[in-house]
Amino acid sequence: MFEGDETLTIRDADTLSYRNGRQYQRVSYHHDAAVGNFHFGERHPMKPHRLTLTNHLVMGYGLHNYMDVYQPRKASAAQISAFHAPEYVDFLQKVTPDNAHTFASVFQKFNVGDDCPVFDGVYDFCSIYAGASLDAARKLISGQSDIAINWSGGLHHAKKFEASGFCFINDIVLAILDLLRYHPRVLYIDIDIHHGDGVQEAFYNTDRVMTLSLHKYNGDFFPGTGNSSEIGGDVGKHHSLNIPLKDGIDDQSYVQLFKSILEPCINSYRPTAVVLQCGADSLGCDRLGCFNLSIKAHGECVRFAKSFGLPMLVVGGGGYTVRNVARCWAYETACFLDVELGNKLPDTAYREFFRPDYNLHPQLTGRVENRNSRKSLENLRVKVMEQLRFLNGAPSVQMQEFAPGGYDIADDDNIIREDREEEGSGKDLKWESPKELLRDTEMV
Ligand SMILES: [Zn+2]
Repeated sequence: MFEGDETLTIRDADTLSYRNGRQYQRVSYHHDAAVGNFHFGERHPMKPHRLTLTNHLVMGYGLHNYMDVYQPRKASAAQISAFHAPEYVDFLQKVTPDNAHTFASVFQKFNVGDDCPVFDGVYDFCSIYAGASLDAARKLISGQSDIAINWSGGLHHAKKFEASGFCFINDIVLAILDLLRYHPRVLYIDIDIHHGDGVQEAFYNTDRVMTLSLHKYNGDFFPGTGNSSEIGGDVGKHHSLNIPLKDGIDDQSYVQLFKSILEPCINSYRPTAVVLQCGADSLGCDRLGCFNLSIKAHGECVRFAKSFGLPMLVVGGGGYTVRNVARCWAYETACFLDVELGNKLPDTAYREFFRPDYNLHPQLTGRVENRNSRKSLENLRVKVMEQLRFLNGAPSVQMQEFAPGGYDIADDDNIIREDREEEGSGKDLKWESPKELLRDTEMV
């Protein structure tokens, strides 16, 4: 049944997919080419063009042959308002570089300015990357994808009422809110060099989301939060896990620490879905970062997160040496697909970005001294273990219809139904009501 074309992904009626007779997770890739054409400003370190470079490498390596490629829909203002204050969304919709002076009085309130500048098309940019994360979440919910990738997402600093750290709209929070309508427990993992503060804050007081962030922390480094004493509040106590690191952490220490923490997190919390933020500013040689990781080590963390076989939304995040961001995310796309990539980069229109070596794995490590002692890393691991002990097994989640304000569940369920019908020639794809879906996700 599964013989035939060597490269073709063949699906059976269930959720398994096979290639060369082996079972693979089904991967979808959500990319809008327009997202790479926005400009934060000449001197601004955030370059959306890195997404164009990434996409060219992904396509150049032929990875689109192994996954479902989707043109995402833009997020609507109503969808964005599921988390963000309508007043803030309204401001983002209206403000332009030309009329910015008429909004000057609210710039401070919404934290718009140097880090988060009003650039041409800022709201379009936001609705594209947020829409891609929402579409990706929808593919996971409908069961059409096991892993859904949106490299343009991952803007983890944005807050309900304000922009922060190059992030205007928090696509991660929006996608998790959607996942929570069908999943009892979502684990958020963040390997960006900066603390995932916006996501942590949004879910600080709930036990339905566990956030795990590894980042540089010294109280001063942006955004200034993320000490291990931030553990969550109310019923969310012990559900915010923070791993504050010092400069220069190397491949071996990071990967070992990541694995030794993630496995017990998953075993204790038993998430039914995972959101993985793959910020590439934790690589060595990043323009803003100061870690010492190679692309292979970054990818090894991704591979390990995938190995648990949970439905997973994958988003990008930071990453300011654009050529290495593109290398990293192309490599990680291949990791999700279980496809090996040669070190020689494919020829693309952007080949010269990758000079002088034109390789997938340039030497990025060894330039910053590792300031993390073995003992300090072991202490961080022990602290997490202590926190996990408080979880007392997986929380018994009372599933409720989770309807954040302004979001039309019926509408969205219709879209999911359409997705299912589209997918499947009808067989074994009987539409289930939201209630049935909720029952399915309850842990036995
Ligand atoms: Zn970052």
